[in-house]
Amino acid sequence: MNWELKLLSKLVALDTDSTKRSNYSECAELIKDEAEGCGFAARICDAKRLAEDGKPRPNVVVDLEAGARQTLIIATHYDVVPAGGGWRRQPFKLTVEGERAYGRGANDDKSGIVAALSAMRDLRRLAESKVNVRLLATCDEETGGKLGAGYLAEREKIRGNAVLVVDASRDLIVGASGIVFGKIIVKGKQGHAGYPHRAKNAITYALPFLQDMEKFARIREKHLSFLKAPRGEPKEHLWGRFSITMLRAGEKENIIPGEVEARFDMRLVPEEGTRGAIDELKDYFGRAKIRNQVDARLLITTKQPGYYTRPDHKFVGNFQKVFPEEPSAMLGGNDGRFFTARGIPAISFGTGRKECNVHGKDEFVYLDDIELVKHTIYNLCANWEDV
Ligand SMILES: [Zn+2]
Repeated sequence: MNWELKLLSKLVALDTDSTKRSNYSECAELIKDEAEGCGFAARICDAKRLAEDGKPRPNVVVDLEAGARQTLIIATHYDVVPAGGGWRRQPFKLTVEGERAYGRGANDDKSGIVAALSAMRDLRRLAESKVNVRLLATCDEETGGKLGAGYLAEREKIRGNAVLVVDASRDLIVGASGIVFGKIIVKGKQGHAGYPHRAKNAITYALPFLQDMEKFARIREKHLSFLKAPRGEPKEHLWGRFSITMLRAGEKENIIPGEVEARFDMRLVPEEGTRGAIDELKDYFGRAKIRNQVDARLLITTKQPGYYTRPDHKFVGNFQKVFPEEPSAMLGGNDGRFFTARGIPAISFGTGRKECNVHGKDEFVYLDDIELVKHTIYNLCANWEDV
């Protein structure tokens, strides 16, 4: 574990904040140098010219050429969410305590880069791989991945016969939820708070209406996937979700607000189309408006379908031979969608566990889980059968 921990601590020391895009170049160079140090061909594909802020968007591609017919893509990302406050350890100094290594990104997803590169290093040394391996360490995953994995799939035409997204929990995940984001705008009439009888307070109208809208979650959860939810979740099969996640109203204490804006996050089961889900939401919204006698509008801002790989796909069979578990679908999403959109089957797997505080304070990874992910990748490649 020495080599792995050393690399992980170098990666964690760089604050690759996905909102500031800090240290992206330093981190990409570090990964490229480490890969070349292991004897791999590595290159950086920078999407900077497409970046609105003009900042570098370097993505690292590392190739293990095994002379095989097929190529397995391993997708990881090096950007992290901001550290935030309340840490009991330093977020950008890897701290090993017993079986755990703490730090921002120690789990999500720098442990994935370390586990994958370490597996490739052993496969190369022992000349064991029966599949070519192409490791991607990309930026911007935490902000949608367009200039990261999206750029590599769309612009650089990175292709393979299958993709393993090492950015997930310790489950065999074959599906991801679709996402719809949007706004609900409730209108009133703005006015002087000294004369409330002359105005129409949008907050007064919005509160009961938004509570009614929250109940749409009960309709959403009736959509059950044919795929199971990961172990430990409240339902056996993956289900649809709806949450109001942002609320904005008012300018000043003495002004009665004329508008309330709420934002929501709707999650779809992997096999569901965005169209049907949006129609169902609009239908509920229309009825809730009448029930609550409000003037309101609904706007959809983002729609992204989910994806899945059939559980009887040969790639899933290959994976089950080295990690015998029942396939499930995850409640979130990841960069796998850029590849599944091009017909490449995807499996997600990684070092995440509920207690690891991914995106929270004192994020950590179990050292055993880095080993497990490394060995699973190694065995998958060493026992590869064409898919
Ligand atoms: Zn991640």
